[in-house]
Amino acid sequence: MIAAYQGIDGSHFHVVLAEHFARRGEQVELCGVTSFRDVAVAVTTGRARYGLLPVDNSTSGTFRDGYDLMDRYGLSPVREIVSRLDERLLGVDGATLAGLRRIYAHPIALEECSRFLATLPGAEVLPTADTGDTARQIAETKNSTWAVIGPAEAASRWGLIELAPTVADSRHNFTRFILIEATPETDRTPSDGGPRRTSLLLRTRNEDGALTRILAPLAEAQINIAKIESRVQPGRPWEAAFYLDLDADVNETGFWAALQAMRHLCSGFRVLGSYDRDAGPLRPSSAPSAAAASTDFQALPSSCTQVTLGSLQAGAAADDDDPAAVPPPTAKKNWPRASREQRPWGTIVRIGDVEIGGDEFVVIAGPCSVESRDQVIGTALAVRERGATLLRGGAFKPRTTPYAFQGLGWEGVDLLQEASRVTGLPTVSEVMNVDQVERMARSIDVLQIGARNMQNFDLLRAVGRAGKPVLLKRGMSATLNELLAAAEYILSEGNPDVILCERGIRTFETSTRNTLDLSAIPVLREQTHLPILVDPSHGVGVRRWIRPLARAAKAVGAHGIIVEVHPNPPKALSDADQALRFDQFGQIMDDLRAIPPFSM
Ligand code: PEP
Ligand code: MN
Repeated sequence: MIAAYQGIDGSHFHVVLAEHFARRGEQVELCGVTSFRDVAVAVTTGRARYGLLPVDNSTSGTFRDGYDLMDRYGLSPVREIVSRLDERLLGVDGATLAGLRRIYAHPIALEECSRFLATLPGAEVLPTADTGDTARQIAETKNSTWAVIGPAEAASRWGLIELAPTVADSRHNFTRFILIEATPETDRTPSDGGPRRTSLLLRTRNEDGALTRILAPLAEAQINIAKIESRVQPGRPWEAAFYLDLDADVNETGFWAALQAMRHLCSGFRVLGSYDRDAGPLRPSSAPSAAAASTDFQALPSSCTQVTLGSLQAGAAADDDDPAAVPPPTAKKNWPRASREQRPWGTIVRIGDVEIGGDEFVVIAGPCSVESRDQVIGTALAVRERGATLLRGGAFKPRTTPYAFQGLGWEGVDLLQEASRVTGLPTVSEVMNVDQVERMARSIDVLQIGARNMQNFDLLRAVGRAGKPVLLKRGMSATLNELLAAAEYILSEGNPDVILCERGIRTFETSTRNTLDLSAIPVLREQTHLPILVDPSHGVGVRRWIRPLARAAKAVGAHGIIVEVHPNPPKALSDADQALRFDQFGQIMDDLRAIPPFSM
């Protein structure tokens, strides 16, 4: 069983994880990775069973990445670990406080030790994401003017000495971590049976007294709010959002009812999960020792061994030699990661300021193909003015006949980017083969997998590693089960941002280009947590029938639509029959505004 942390051996997080499992008497293999995101990726792809994420520090407050990664990757909290990080100043033998010119510390440690650091004005203070690695580098370079704030174990591991013991400004300085896992509800690590806590994220409506009303059900159910802290939301400067930790378990009936009541009062609401509370810090204020040689420090607990996972970055292959290395979370379904049980509150995919899967009905619009600068920029301006929030445009076109216009290729991608710069609209464009993925991921905000490629499994895996949201269109003869299994390919590579799209299927009916399967929407909403769009343009293929179907898409519960718009539809180089004029697109937007938001 592998547990992942950020850093290398001897780093704070390594020590916290090692001590945690040693106390529980559990054998684990510990694995250091380079970032907190990689911790999340290691767990979500099954390379590690557990991961460690910090969520709070008693000096610096909420550690945003911890909650945000759990949210983004749909990871489940298992257990809270509260630890007093044992901050010491470490350097090479012969270094002195007065001689120091650089002190490295993790951003959390910088906050914790700011008063101590102010007593060393001759030294520049620099942040480091990896205390263990910095300790190693200082040891290797034998530079006596550098020091690092880190745990005693880093000194013992890399042969440094303590230049100052316990340098945190407060002895009551704790960091709260969450141990995370990715397994579905049924296979989750059982609770210890002790007290439980639930973390959630919420966004209030911009109305007087909104927060008070949202919290009222908690007071009625007599639930303790252990923490409420406002949440910074990039791109939404004036909206109020919060992190909450509540002392109850979602399975308690009264609490569950309170959560349901709160949810309806919020404009965004996400339960991250319930987990075992930590009874207390693992290191209750151990007395600071006098400066001592590193050999006096305790080695790490012997129940932990060190392993490496190899690269988790885009393009890296999983460990294919060992089929057990990437176990599916459960064999019960072909798409466990896509299933609704995995994230009962649903996934929201964020593209800049746009959220797909939340309360807003999102409209993606633009030409079928990018044809020229004037065409794509003109269309982008027109659809933005009428309320579209993402711009579509094909540069690589999958055409039935090789003699039809195949798209402008990379020139089209450049033009789409230019239209995005002019309008500020993020872009959606189809990627047709594995070789295009990396460059498209650098240029385009959402990678579209077209209907004809829904089961191109190499391509699905490649976009699963591309680090960009994916719009996955349903194949024209694919069942919903096959669509979800295709999404699973992307999710299983560590990409949580998959948006499904119903775009019509082949039936015996020939009056429309395809048969738009609107019944897919309620089925998918029940079966998966992934957001779902409807493409009425390819669904019917006839301009005048798109409007009623766009309305139907919103009414039936889609999270948005994607439609084709052209400045001069009869002249469109592809899909001319279904391209909307600007005024027709405007009418559709007016229609959609008049339809109330969908509720289950
Ligand atoms: C498109 O969106 O331009 C397209 C080709 O769609 P589909 O893959 O659904 O046919
Ligand atoms: Mn098209």
